Amino acid sequence: MNVADVDDISARLNAYGGRRVESPEEADLVLVNTCMVRKKAEDKAMSYFGGLKHARNAAGRPPFIVAMGCVVPRNQQKIRETYPHIDLLVNYSDPDLVMNQLMEQFEPLAASAMDDDFSPAMTTSIGSQNFVTAIRGCNHRCSFCVVPWARGPQRDEPIDKIVAEAREHELRGAPDVTILGQSIMAYGKSSGDGSQRFIEMMEAVLENTSFPWVRFLTSLACDMTDEICERIIAHPRITPLLHLPIQSGSDKVLSDMRRKHDVATYRRMVEKARSVRPDLYLTTDILVGFPTETEADYRETYALMEEIGFDDAFMFAYSERPGTHSARHFPDMLSREVKIRRLSEVIELQRRTSAERSRRYIGEELDVVIEAVNEEGAVARTSFNKPIYMPGTARQVGEYSRARIMTVRVSAFTGEEISVEHAAIPARV
Ligand code: SF4
Repeated sequence: MNVADVDDISARLNAYGGRRVESPEEADLVLVNTCMVRKKAEDKAMSYFGGLKHARNAAGRPPFIVAMGCVVPRNQQKIRETYPHIDLLVNYSDPDLVMNQLMEQFEPLAASAMDDDFSPAMTTSIGSQNFVTAIRGCNHRCSFCVVPWARGPQRDEPIDKIVAEAREHELRGAPDVTILGQSIMAYGKSSGDGSQRFIEMMEAVLENTSFPWVRFLTSLACDMTDEICERIIAHPRITPLLHLPIQSGSDKVLSDMRRKHDVATYRRMVEKARSVRPDLYLTTDILVGFPTETEADYRETYALMEEIGFDDAFMFAYSERPGTHSARHFPDMLSREVKIRRLSEVIELQRRTSAERSRRYIGEELDVVIEAVNEEGAVARTSFNKPIYMPGTARQVGEYSRARIMTVRVSAFTGEEISVEHAAIPARV
C-alpha cells in the first residue's frame, strides 16, 4: 500500500513537471513515506530523517523535505525538535491529502499547472507491480495493528474509478495489475448495507481490461466465501497467488488478536481455494510472541504451518505498538529470547517448506514478466510474484516471456528463457 501511495504521488508530481530521481542530493523535494507497523520500521524512519540533515541538491540548497505516513502523528513533537530541517509534517499518506498540503507549502508546485490528462495509473515504473487502490483504510480492529488508526476507517473507491485506473495501466503497456486493499475481499462492506461487492468489482476489472494477469491483495479468511473462490480465485486470468494471513494457529491467540477468523475457518477456506485452484501459491503472515501466546499456543502455530505447507510466509516477532488495543490490554511479558527463538524456529521451518514446495516447479515452463535486464542477465517475475533469474532475455522490461525453471532457491528461481514463440501469453511489442 505504501509503494502504491508513493507511485501515485510520484505520478502526480510528474504531471506537474516533476521527475523522479535516485537520491536526495538530486532532489528539490524529498518525500519520506513512513511505516510504524513494527518498531524497527519506525526507528529506521527516524534515523533516515537524521541522515537528511546535510542533504544539498545540485544548486547547493537543502531540498524541501516532507515527512509523511504513520510515524508522523505519533512523533510530531519529537520530529520537530530533533529534525528541524524537515519542512513539512503530514499526518497521513493518502495521495489526495498529501498533494493538498504540498500545494499550499511547496512553492514551485503552487506555481505550476497539472497536465489535464493526468491519472494516478501514470506511474513511473512499468515492471510487474502495477497497483490500483480499491480500498483505503481498514474496518478490522486487529489488536496489534496500527493501520486502522493510521489510515482511518475503510473507504471504497467507486468501481468505475478502479476500472478506469486499471485501463490506464493497460493503455500505457503495463503487463498486469494488482488491486489493493488492506482487506480486499471486504470491498463494499463499508457501504453500510452489508453487501459484499468484491466479486462485482473484480469481474468489472476482468471484463473491461485484457490483462492476462490480475492480482489482488490482501485477503482475510473471515471475508472469504465459497463464491469468491469459485468466481474469482478460479478465474483463469486471476493469478494463482493468494496471500491469506493467519498470524497464529491458536484460536485463543487469534481471539486476543481480535482476528475475526478461527483456525477451522481458515483451514476450510484454504481447502476450498486449493480445490478450485490446484496451482494455488499460498502465502501468509505469521506473528509469534503475542503477549498471551503460551508455548502450547506457539506449538499450535508451528503445527499448523507444517500441516498447511505455505509456499512462503512473512514472519515477525510481536513488537508493541503504542496506542493499539494489545498495548493497552496485554502487557508485553514475553522475553526477547523467547520471541527470537520462536521466530527463528518458524523461519527455519518455512525455509524448508518453501524449498520443498518450490521443487514442484523444476523443469516446468512458466510465463514470466521481465523486470530488469543488465549485463549479468535478466530478473523476471512469475504470475505468483516469485523472482526468477535468467542468464539473458530477448525481451524488454515489462514484456512477457517464458522460462524453464532450472533450480529453486528459497525465495527465487533460476531458469532459462525458452523460445518466446512458445509463450502462452504473447509479449506486448
Ligand atoms: S485486517 Fe487487521 S492486520 Fe490487516 S490492516 Fe486491518 S487491522 Fe491491520
